[in-house]
Amino acid sequence: MDDEDITRLYLWATGSCFRCARSRVETTSLNQIDTPAGVRYDVRACRACVIDLEYERMRRADRLGTRYVPGGLGS
Ligand SMILES: [Zn+2]
Repeated sequence: MDDEDITRLYLWATGSCFRCARSRVETTSLNQIDTPAGVRYDVRACRACVIDLEYERMRRADRLGTRYVPGGLGS
């Protein structure tokens, strides 16, 4: 599984990345946060950050001796 295979596991739309702060780039939704003011905030990440985060999950699974399953960010 390469980076392209990983990005194909997510749905992409133009937005801002919460992690690197780039805007108007292809992003995927990782989470939604409801603020105390009642506003729902969509937490989105760009492709480069999604790949970084997936590699982090891969290393964590390796450390813990569990199986890494790509595509699980935000779930
Ligand atoms: Zn980013």
